[in-house]
Amino acid sequence: MNVKDPAGLEEEARRLDETDPLPTLRGEFLIPPAPGGAHPEAAYFAGNSLGLQPRSVAGRLREELDDWARLAVEAHTRGRRPWFGYHELLREPAARLVGARPHEVVAMNSLTVDLHLMMASFYRPAGTRTRILIEDTAFPSDAYAVASQAVHHGLDPAATVVRLKPRPGENILRTEDVLGHLEREGDTVALVMLGGVNYLTGQLMDMPAITKAGRAAGAVVGWDLAHAAGNVPLRLHDWDVDFAAWCTYKYLNSGPGAVAGCFVHERHVRDASVPRLSGWWGTEPSVRFRMDPDIAPPASADAWQLSNPPILALAPVLASLEIFDRVGMDALRAKSLRLTGYLASRLAPRARLEIITPADPAARGTQLSLRVADAGGLVRRLADTRGVIADAREPDIVRLAPAPLYCTFHDCHRAAEALADLV
Ligand SMILES: *Cc1c(COP(=O)(O)O)cnc(C)c1O
Repeated sequence: MNVKDPAGLEEEARRLDETDPLPTLRGEFLIPPAPGGAHPEAAYFAGNSLGLQPRSVAGRLREELDDWARLAVEAHTRGRRPWFGYHELLREPAARLVGARPHEVVAMNSLTVDLHLMMASFYRPAGTRTRILIEDTAFPSDAYAVASQAVHHGLDPAATVVRLKPRPGENILRTEDVLGHLEREGDTVALVMLGGVNYLTGQLMDMPAITKAGRAAGAVVGWDLAHAAGNVPLRLHDWDVDFAAWCTYKYLNSGPGAVAGCFVHERHVRDASVPRLSGWWGTEPSVRFRMDPDIAPPASADAWQLSNPPILALAPVLASLEIFDRVGMDALRAKSLRLTGYLASRLAPRARLEIITPADPAARGTQLSLRVADAGGLVRRLADTRGVIADAREPDIVRLAPAPLYCTFHDCHRAAEALADLV
């Protein structure tokens, strides 16, 4: 077989799918159709933006709608999954996903809201230690959030928020440069809040090393895991992370705007001196309906909850976490490395496709980011003419994430062929 011609390459991709140690779970997901063309289904590489719908979600939602119809208010205590403690069903699977102890995690709100709640507790600027360290390519919502926290404390955001940049001519922020900054100026840093996997470049940060250095410098270290949760194995407890938050609609496939996850290290959940913005769902469940004027927070991340949770929005998260629990992050990461490595090997020989994601598999997650002219136009053509769904970040970045639950080697083959033709 000549693997250089497209037919040979396609055959090779199909063989990789058939022989992979983790057979695809594509059948458990609803794959969008591809308009016209050779393939009925899309090759979906935008799971880092919005993950695909697990088939199990609709049934789960229907059960909650049924309980609402049959039991109404009584479903809080007598539903098949009583709503009063519904969020607790997510605790253990979420803890396994991020390497936490169960009382360190809670599903609540959305990502940016959780980051604010965490900063309300853990960003405590004092004296000359006021700065917040983010990456220059931080997701805009994170940049807006930290700037507004500075303002909230009466500080000038321009002087408070430090945006760490790659070296001139480089695309990737070097770990040594983050550590170097903390070594030199760590005593001015109140909070380090970076993305565990960068949304734009796909770089996987060295979370253990940066957490250790940040804490050694006397700063609080929080991680935005929007692109890391469900993508790479995490050990938040062992890494000694102070707090973290992640959305669940990207690699975690829980639907648009789905309820986020939040981690608070156990040393903080037991610390009564940590200030918190509170609401009634942050008091002990056993006394919640006594309507006491004084809050009795539990020694868990639940103490940061404000409102009673949106059950219809939590049901898909629960359904999705069951899939991650069944497969396990280690097996998923192993498959993600195989798929991403294969896609990179198919794209690398193309001179006009500059991959800005680190070439070292240990320094990246599932996503590959390409620098190309007219990224938006290219993504449109990929979708309309080939059924290959990618995403563009203007002006010149195309992101492709072969999410290992439902993307196949054959999808990667399709993407590589389409890019070769269209760029
Ligand atoms: C996706 C993403 C967000 C989105 O924030 P929401 O509050 O969920 O709308 C924020 N930060 C990062 C790093 C992201 O990747």
